[in-house]
Amino acid sequence: MESGILAVPLQTAMKTEIPLGLAARRGLLGLCPSCGKTKLFASYLKQVEACPNCGAHFGRIRADDAAPWGTIIVVGHIFMPLMFFISLDAFMPFWAGVTVWAALFAGLSLVLLPRSKGLFIALLWSTRAPGVNNG
Ligand SMILES: [Zn+2]
Repeated sequence: MESGILAVPLQTAMKTEIPLGLAARRGLLGLCPSCGKTKLFASYLKQVEACPNCGAHFGRIRADDAAPWGTIIVVGHIFMPLMFFISLDAFMPFWAGVTVWAALFAGLSLVLLPRSKGLFIALLWSTRAPGVNNG
């Protein structure tokens, strides 16, 4: 009555492909690029080993310098020109203006860095880049 061959449906053996744009948006929001239901990071910049909801593995994915690079691109090339157009000298002493700009850019960098890392982890995971074990 029972056969020795187990038939595994092809649909369960194959993973569902997540579109690159959707995975990137989820990573940018700090969510699992695969399911989007759990957090990608266990702490500020430490990604979870695997998603507790869908089981996708992220522990071996290394974004390396891409995350700071992406942050510098945004902060340095988009927001830094604001410093030249908005003069705080009329409102406060020079040293106070420098302090305000430095605090603004440091805060902006700290906010964008995990977003950038999430984006690059999602891109690496989604494209199955060499060296990435998606599990
Ligand atoms: Zn997930």
